[in-house]
Amino acid sequence: MTAPGVVAPPAVASASVAAPAVSMTRRYTFPAAHVLRHPSFSDRENQRVYGKCANPAGHGHEYAIEVTVTGPLDERLGWVVDPSVLDAIFDAQVRARFAHCLLNDDPVFRSQVPTAENLAQVIYASLAESLADRSSARLVEVRVVETRRNSFSYGDVK
Ligand SMILES: [Zn+2]
Repeated sequence: MTAPGVVAPPAVASASVAAPAVSMTRRYTFPAAHVLRHPSFSDRENQRVYGKCANPAGHGHEYAIEVTVTGPLDERLGWVVDPSVLDAIFDAQVRARFAHCLLNDDPVFRSQVPTAENLAQVIYASLAESLADRSSARLVEVRVVETRRNSFSYGDVK
């Protein structure tokens, strides 16, 4: 019962409003190279679409990968995921596969162009399954920072 003159507390949030959650974002870096060319395009078409990024000699980036996870907070340890577990998963699933490599050589990029957008999706898929196996945390987003001007996100992107 609310006393006269006292403002009633707000109604309990409806089920459609998400409760606040804790997330953790960890940043990794590695160098890799790529050539942007669609396998079904001619050299001329690739040059027209991708410009200098289609140069057959390729070019490199120092990729920064920001991995965001969420999940129940471990009350005792105070974290969402053990960072060393995420590091081990990243090293095994991503760094070992792509660091110091030509992305085009990876089987997944034989049928799709190794843009940062596609790389973000491939990394997301690579991490999600291993994380589910080894942690109660859930992958939310993978962000690939390719240059100072460009970054690309895949996941629960707002
Ligand atoms: Zn590039």
